[in-house]
Amino acid sequence: MRQGQTSLRINDQVEVIAGKDKGRVGKILRIDRSKKRAVVERINMIRKHQKPIDANQPGQMIDREASVHISNLKLVCPECAETVRTGIKFLEDGAKVRVCKKCGATIETAKN
Ligand SMILES: [Zn+2]
Repeated sequence: MRQGQTSLRINDQVEVIAGKDKGRVGKILRIDRSKKRAVVERINMIRKHQKPIDANQPGQMIDREASVHISNLKLVCPECAETVRTGIKFLEDGAKVRVCKKCGATIETAKN
């Protein structure tokens, strides 16, 4: 696995580095690794028209997130609060964790 963007995981805080939401930060909700796209909380919002359930009811406009290409996202280190590159470190029990290359903090991802 390449370093950088591909190490992103669900619940990571990421900053958008391109597009209309450039500079905004959000939490990753879903990742589609085959398409290299991620859905980030309140990023790349689109308005969708939802058809009414009942023909007599008006349709509804709902806002939802559209996916963003992973290359447009950068991990935000929870320790130094900057967009950083990550390295890999092995713990004593053999578990693999990501570390911030800037401040050296271990970047754990909250469990779902
Ligand atoms: Zn850091």
